[in-house]
Amino acid sequence: MSDKSKMFLKDLKNEFSLNTHQAHEMIHNFHKEMEMGLAGEKSSLKMLPSFICPPKGTEKGIFLAIDLGGTNLRVLAVKLLGDGVIETVGVSRFAISNEVMTGTNDMFFDFIVGCIKTFFDENHITQNKYSLGFTFSFPVIQSSIDRGVLISWTKGFSVSGVEGRDVVGLLNHALIRNKMESIHISAILNDTVGTLAAGSYMDPLCHMGVILGTGTNACYSEKIKNIKKLDNLICSDEMIINMEWGGFDRLERNIYDETVDKNSQNPGEQRLEKMVSGMYLGEIAKTVIIHMIENGYILSRGLQSMFEEPYNLTTEQLSHLSSGVDIFKKSGIHIAEKDREIIREIACIVSKRSARIAATAIAAVVQWIDPHLHNHHHIAIDGSLFEKYSGYKENMQSMLEEIFGDLAKKITLKLTHDGSGIGAAVVSAIEAHKRS
Ligand code: ADP
Ligand code: MG
Repeated sequence: MSDKSKMFLKDLKNEFSLNTHQAHEMIHNFHKEMEMGLAGEKSSLKMLPSFICPPKGTEKGIFLAIDLGGTNLRVLAVKLLGDGVIETVGVSRFAISNEVMTGTNDMFFDFIVGCIKTFFDENHITQNKYSLGFTFSFPVIQSSIDRGVLISWTKGFSVSGVEGRDVVGLLNHALIRNKMESIHISAILNDTVGTLAAGSYMDPLCHMGVILGTGTNACYSEKIKNIKKLDNLICSDEMIINMEWGGFDRLERNIYDETVDKNSQNPGEQRLEKMVSGMYLGEIAKTVIIHMIENGYILSRGLQSMFEEPYNLTTEQLSHLSSGVDIFKKSGIHIAEKDREIIREIACIVSKRSARIAATAIAAVVQWIDPHLHNHHHIAIDGSLFEKYSGYKENMQSMLEEIFGDLAKKITLKLTHDGSGIGAAVVSAIEAHKRS
């Protein structure tokens, strides 16, 4: 690698750094935004009440769940044994086509109902009365557990006629349209709430759920008395708060972040998400690579043409690049060894910052719940970025150690696979328990 390239990468590291001092500052700002969000004041953290209390771990029965993330739709049937143990009866995964993501609302909800039908066929489930929890991972305003109005689409979705309307009502209509009205939608929730519900059903030390996949978000269990904006009488001590932390906007951005933001579907919004989540990491890295090609730091031919389309360097590919795999060979593009080294370095820099921001945000929430870390905290985390990106978890852990020193040992980052779906079934069970 030339000295010029080395210098460039050194500067790049600085531009993408989040040092311990900045992390503490971020925690301070996070707390301020959390407080304002809970009070119903203007805040980049929406702090949405979920109307869901944490589970007890004693709920029982078989429940259905739909998990609509950003890339896949999952349908699940889950059996809760009542002693903190969950068995999955069946899971089917469906890819969501671009046509469905950007089509009409009838098409969209008929597609979901079609997936439930296929799931029943594949798992030999004869139709019966079932309670279903609906994990819908987009910002929603809830006024009760089974009513949720979509604020705005994110993650590349733009189905017409859904924004500003109750998503449960729309799905119900589609169930009726397709003669599946024996299914009762008992709750709508966010994937992050589902992840926490699944995590805390199985583990009493879990009070926080985090998503690190296509998007990023978190929730935690908050004391009712702290949720100042909630004026209805709620008869429980705690409620899960969906933070919508992807919207946190008090982070310093660099020129690459600004470029990605400017060219995105929702400029100015979801600022933390755009620096952290799987949907954007590839695009950030690509923006850096293109800048380096244009300025003569990367010379291999063919790369630029490969990157012409937006979002065509995926975070999955970035993950392979980070671990030294030559992803370009397959496309017949030869990249000089020294350029590959540069690109690998970029992949590491971009993903490391993502992991450090995510860890700092977790630190902020843990400190909010337990300022001196007297207790142990198990964080339920779902999402392919956390699960599959090589070195991601380790980067998060070292950030937590920088922030808390030895006390970081009290925080455990726990992969809760398919938690967002399983949790919807758990929430459905909590509701059934309440009614019985
Ligand atoms: P969803 O967010 O739709 O629920 P996932 O949790 O599986 O789905 O996250 C999918 C995202 O995770 C993809 O958009 C991609 O950015 C990222 N991803 C997928 N595979 C990998 C991988 N092997 N390494 C790193 N990131 C990945
Ligand atoms: Mg998911």
